Amino acid sequence: METAIKKMPILFVGHGSPMNAIEDNNYSRNWVKVASEIPKPEAILVISAHWFTNGSRITDESNPKMVYDIYGFPDELYKIEYKTKGSPELAHLTKNLIHRDVKVDNSWGYDHGTWSVLCKMYPKADIPVYQLSVDSKASADTHFQIGKEISALREKGVLIFGSGNVVHNLSKINREMEEGYPWAVEFDNYIKEKIINKQYQDAVNYETAGKCSELSFFTPEHFYPLLYILGAAQEDDRLSIYNNSCTMGSLSMTCYLFE
Ligand code: ZN
Repeated sequence: METAIKKMPILFVGHGSPMNAIEDNNYSRNWVKVASEIPKPEAILVISAHWFTNGSRITDESNPKMVYDIYGFPDELYKIEYKTKGSPELAHLTKNLIHRDVKVDNSWGYDHGTWSVLCKMYPKADIPVYQLSVDSKASADTHFQIGKEISALREKGVLIFGSGNVVHNLSKINREMEEGYPWAVEFDNYIKEKIINKQYQDAVNYETAGKCSELSFFTPEHFYPLLYILGAAQEDDRLSIYNNSCTMGSLSMTCYLFE
């Protein structure tokens, strides 16, 4: 008898500062908690804010390299090696599920949107991980549609993992602030309410939130990974929200788990 693979949850993580990779804080502790509570994935597909490309790209390398796309951080961070395997087979399956053209591109590897969170969630690095880029030229709705197309991966035991931040405005970062500016909290709450009410199309049309959406990011690469997760969500999913907060003024750390 064949044992059916349980339908995998999907997860959006607000990754915030790369320092979370080496700090033991409430954010990273909740990432560990999520990993301990969901079924162990067969593989992880990461859609990271830090791979923002012209057109959609995917890695199909068996042994992806590390990408240290961070500047001015302590040496310790550049020594992190997340040595796990890729998944050429699932990468090709994923490429075929997506209706638009997706280029294979192994000039990229695991960027900090991926390793800073996974080194906490799955420190043994024993689960294959591959990445899909965020298309800088595509509309918000296209990202949402791609999420729908890849939703079938959940039946294959793949954890679809979006890594970004709902609010991400580095020009307004204030490292002295523990909380968020009122407009950051307003936008984070706006998106949260839409997600709780399953009004995903309103999250896609995030500009309708008004002024707070204009301040929350100037470029959408940290927001778009969330739209893949909303696209991949299914009617009977149960939603859990972690790290429900903003910090440093203009960063949201809010995470969404659908299972
Ligand atoms: Zn980031």
